[in-house]
Amino acid sequence: MSNTLSGDSQDQRHWFTEIHPATGSAFSLKLHGKLHQADSPWQRIAVYATEAFGNLMVIDGYIMLSGRDNFLYHEMMAHPALFTHPHPRRVLIIGGGDCGTLREVLKHPAVETATQVDIDEAVTRASERYFPELCESNDDPRAQLCFEDGLAWVKNVAPASYEVIIVDSTDPIGPAEGLFAQPFFSDCHRALSADGLLVQQSESPLFHLESILAPLHRKLRTAGFADTHTLHFPQCVYPSGWWSATLARKTGRVDDFRTADAAAKPFTTDYYNAEIHRAALATPEFMRRALAGAG
Ligand code: SAM
Repeated sequence: MSNTLSGDSQDQRHWFTEIHPATGSAFSLKLHGKLHQADSPWQRIAVYATEAFGNLMVIDGYIMLSGRDNFLYHEMMAHPALFTHPHPRRVLIIGGGDCGTLREVLKHPAVETATQVDIDEAVTRASERYFPELCESNDDPRAQLCFEDGLAWVKNVAPASYEVIIVDSTDPIGPAEGLFAQPFFSDCHRALSADGLLVQQSESPLFHLESILAPLHRKLRTAGFADTHTLHFPQCVYPSGWWSATLARKTGRVDDFRTADAAAKPFTTDYYNAEIHRAALATPEFMRRALAGAG
């Protein structure tokens, strides 16, 4: 994928466009201007002010989040997993440096510790400045922010350290490549308690079903997870406008969630509720066929 500024020839400096050559598609947002750029040892982080989507964070040319629609992704990365595990006390977030998933996790009163391990502190510093609403829970005494490679963290942590692991990573390239690989899932399986649960951001059901989603299910099952299931939700700033999170449980079924607790959630959300959770579990026919042999 590459990123260029495009749009009509009169106006091209005023648009951010993420082009997806493999699918012959692109997504553009009209800009007011560039607010920030930083080159860390791992990646180039940029933040733009857009005309209609609030601030926009881009890493290595790929859109990470916009102020307008990040609630969809962050809520669906956190709440289905936390309302599926029977008692999620210790939560690990790998990646997630913008802190939006952390904020959602900390809305759950049962959570005692939420450890976020992002390889790149520069992402969190940019988020604190340009997305302060996502960082409003960073000072919660239950939160621990670490800046290390998530692969090493999970490999070295004591067995059964967490009830829930959330992998809120960039696309499977660069430092995130290993976060989609079999050895990482085996390490996560070991790091989870006996009834532990993992959720991984798993790209677009439309664009990445064969290349990422089906192999992801196979790798999770090989790592020892008893059940895997992909939930899907809209996300207009990501390729195809449709995104997914894949849940994997060591014991029990992913579609067996705490519906009464979800329906009586003691906090506000903008997208997630028990009905959305149930709907996101429904598997479209083309996905059912492609994933049939994968699980
Ligand atoms: N949901 C977003 C998306 O799909 O576009 C991802 C948001 S979050 C900003 C992704 C984070 O993953 C980045 O901050 C990046 O630094 C982090 N990351 C990438 N590889 C990592 C690794 N090996 N260990 C820990 N964090 C990693």
